[in-house]
Amino acid sequence: MIRTRKVCVYILRNFGLLLFLSSAGTAALADGETAPARDVKQPVDDAYTAKIHKYTTQPFFTSPLVDYLPASKNVPTPEAVLGDVAGAPGILPYAEDVYKYMRLLEKASPRVKVFSIGKTEEGREMIAVAVSSPENLKNLEENRAQLAKLADPRTIKLDDAEADRIVAQAVPVYYITGTIHSPETGAPTALMELAYRLAVDESPYIREIRDGMITLITPVVEVDGRDRMVDIYRWHLSHPKDFYPPLIYWGKYVAHDNNRDAMGVTLKLTENVLNTYVGWKAQVLHDLHESVPYLYDNTAGDGPFNAWVDPILTDEWEMIGWRNVSDMTKFGMPGVFTHGVFDTWSPGYLMFIAAMHNGISRLYETFGNGGADTLTRTLDPEEYARTWYRQNPPLPKTLWSQRDNNNYEQTGLLTSLHYFNENKRLFLKNFYLKAKRSVTKPGAEGPAAYVLSADDPRLGSQAALLQVLQKQAVEISRATAAFTVTLPPKKSAKPKKDAKETKEKDTPPAPTTREFPAGSYIVRMDQPYSRIADALLDYQYWSPDDPQKTPYDDTGWTFGELFGVQVTRVTDPKVLDVAVERVKEVRAPAGVSGEGTVYAINNNAEPSLATLRYKLHDASIEAAEEPFESAGKKFARGSFLLRNVTRAQLNDAISDLGLQATPVSAMPSVKTHPVRAARVAFVHTWLSTQAEGWWRIALDNLGIPYDYISTQIIAKTSDLNAKYDVILFPPVGFFSSPTAIINGLPSAWGNPLPWKNTPETPNLVGKNDSTDDMRPGLGWEGVANLQSFVAKGGVLLTATDTSRFALSIGLADGVSVGNAQKMKIVGSVVGTRLVDAASPIAYGYDEKLSAYCDNGPIFSLSSISGARGGRRLGGEMHTRPTGRGTADDPDFTIGRPGVEVPEEPKSEIWENPLLTDEQLHNNFRAIPPADRARVIFRYADSKELLVSGLVEGGDEIAQHPAVIDVPTGNGHVVLFSINPVYRGETRGTYSLVLNTILNFDSLNAGRKLAEK
Ligand SMILES: [Zn+2]
Repeated sequence: MIRTRKVCVYILRNFGLLLFLSSAGTAALADGETAPARDVKQPVDDAYTAKIHKYTTQPFFTSPLVDYLPASKNVPTPEAVLGDVAGAPGILPYAEDVYKYMRLLEKASPRVKVFSIGKTEEGREMIAVAVSSPENLKNLEENRAQLAKLADPRTIKLDDAEADRIVAQAVPVYYITGTIHSPETGAPTALMELAYRLAVDESPYIREIRDGMITLITPVVEVDGRDRMVDIYRWHLSHPKDFYPPLIYWGKYVAHDNNRDAMGVTLKLTENVLNTYVGWKAQVLHDLHESVPYLYDNTAGDGPFNAWVDPILTDEWEMIGWRNVSDMTKFGMPGVFTHGVFDTWSPGYLMFIAAMHNGISRLYETFGNGGADTLTRTLDPEEYARTWYRQNPPLPKTLWSQRDNNNYEQTGLLTSLHYFNENKRLFLKNFYLKAKRSVTKPGAEGPAAYVLSADDPRLGSQAALLQVLQKQAVEISRATAAFTVTLPPKKSAKPKKDAKETKEKDTPPAPTTREFPAGSYIVRMDQPYSRIADALLDYQYWSPDDPQKTPYDDTGWTFGELFGVQVTRVTDPKVLDVAVERVKEVRAPAGVSGEGTVYAINNNAEPSLATLRYKLHDASIEAAEEPFESAGKKFARGSFLLRNVTRAQLNDAISDLGLQATPVSAMPSVKTHPVRAARVAFVHTWLSTQAEGWWRIALDNLGIPYDYISTQIIAKTSDLNAKYDVILFPPVGFFSSPTAIINGLPSAWGNPLPWKNTPETPNLVGKNDSTDDMRPGLGWEGVANLQSFVAKGGVLLTATDTSRFALSIGLADGVSVGNAQKMKIVGSVVGTRLVDAASPIAYGYDEKLSAYCDNGPIFSLSSISGARGGRRLGGEMHTRPTGRGTADDPDFTIGRPGVEVPEEPKSEIWENPLLTDEQLHNNFRAIPPADRARVIFRYADSKELLVSGLVEGGDEIAQHPAVIDVPTGNGHVVLFSINPVYRGETRGTYSLVLNTILNFDSLNAGRKLAEK
């Protein structure tokens, strides 16, 4: 009751304010600014306006900017395509319809131009719509050339006076992107209407925006996902009483994570938006989302801020954000705020393309209903609480429509555009200053450059990393001769407090030098986009003491570490004097160096080795089980030996793969085994597909074929071995408990949830999987089929949550999972250490390997079936009993000669505990040595666990196994605690998975067994 009364007071107060403002008309405000209101002379589309009012559920859920629609004689309103107004209930347009409307606008108005900006993974078009004055649109190229000088201050020799001249004349570009998250459905119609308003409204407020700047709009970012979402909504409309299927696929590969790709640029949508943003030399990238009532400017939020953004930008965030809140507060619109829960640490968000390219990143969360139904929405207390940053919070309960959402989106954007335009000289100057500070970085905070050496053993992965930087518009140079740089002295370990200080210790360690060979790559920091290169290549440190206790996303991402590539941060400015050539296309050296009957390819854990195996169907390929030397070269374990292939065929196959083959006179005299093209099944659930999507895109890009099947198919396939050698079961992500994987979604009630193409839902499946009912899970038949598959010799590979699953249903013995007590490893880069170099899974790897970990399961080993392994608590439990002598002495018994105390076998955390004779006596639970888990990699010691990001309580997982091969029946279960394939950022650990696939029938190679 009290709550209801409060709401009423609230409504009256705000409604009064609204009326007051509406009466302001076109008059200038007291401070000389143009009033945000309709021009009284502006003709209005009365029928459209009446519908706007009808669909707006409360008078204060709108503003004087959007509570009418200007009329035009020749420009069609969104109704021409939608059949109703933007935001009308029951109407969600497909991307195609949105484009159709934008092209109608283009045809009817010289103020609109539509540009195609690329295709999605499924071949759908992406567009950008420019709205501005005809003059501005006519001068697009000249204006772009002017903006380009600000974007790259080297072109004007960092001349501030020249920059000021350009700033005074150039027309800025404000880029708005909608619906990257497919269930957040409101943006396309809001942006259709926004484009119309900007094109036809003659009020001074809108005219100033149109004449003063270019508004660039991509109405649908995730086009594949949008069309699927519209399908589902239409299905819902025609089955109003049924539950409708959750949007299990958005894009072809990933769902919500499509907004975490701005580092790796793996997805087309990221690449297309990035190219558009950088190509237009835009100043702002403003991305629209819908998850928070009613408008949350989610740009800056709480700390910590990303360490590589310019403070000029963080001030701009606050300026625009708070002004936005202020303008909408004055309209009387409740629930508009900034600040809040978000931290701005990770640069993976789409909007961060602007933050990392000297622009302004912005993000709105408005309030969506996940479709176009009008619904009563009840909020959680924390959502409607009044806080210091949210003085006018949302209502605890209200009827909410898509039109309300569209009103908020458009009002926020229009006030932002107007404020930006009024201050465009300031923002253009800032755009220049941020670019200039990127160029002068070497002399300011540094570093001068990053160097990637030409003698890196992984030139293929090095090229892949540099190609990511090139996608990010970073310039890459290559040294034309060898060069030497000074590196800072190695940090010495902290002296112990009780160590006596000597004069020797006081002498600071001398700086070292390093020579790099000709052909080494230099990523210079005196370039306009040095910021993104620095952010990706540097290290991250998130203090466990940081007041922010809930990181919003990953805390570490250092690309050199995750790609398994050496990257040297060079502060010595002399590196900028090295003679270089600019590299347009980075390609790793590749090819065959001579003629032979046997060719050898060294194994450095390059993922492209797996590509080669599948590419050369007919060649015989064997892996060397030991290192060897031939033709004067050293080859590592796992190196490929190829026969039945001509030099030309091989050269053709490897020239794109960054691999080098050497002819050898004969097969070397080391043990080998065949590397066969395994038949791979790739398993997904109907619970969540995002985490596996990153694995799928990696395999597709590498050209590794697989059958994409669901847990439901596993349940129906009794003889999996007849079809497959390897089953990959990548992480599920959300809803991944073992019971959920087995039981699926509840089916005791409700209706089937079909995921298939029908005339009603023509886009649902795309190129992915389909089912009549998403609800059934793996089931107990599926469990039995997996068990039988492994028992009969198949290889099952699991990671993170599917490893938990495999262990919880007893698919692998001798490994248990412990629960973390205080550990917090939140999307961090951690150190792992090689334990068993002879395992084929480790082929090509070194002692140390960095990996991505997100609170991975803590594996412990036991040599006794069914027992839980665990961390043994060191020596205290095994100290001698009370008695005579010192702590190390044996006790004695009076009247009897002393006896030797038998030594207990000791093992490390990552080793199978050795069994004593006592434990082995008639112990049918003792696991025979050949059946025990084989640890390939373990987590590093506690002190070396953190590479980048946040590691708190890391001793709980330190030294525990990270990658384990468990022999089971005639097959293997390979368990990962790390996630080896993630967001296109972890190429360095891909080969752990690929090695498992390539050596599926020889995983026991090189295995040394315990004696008992
Ligand atoms: Zn979102």
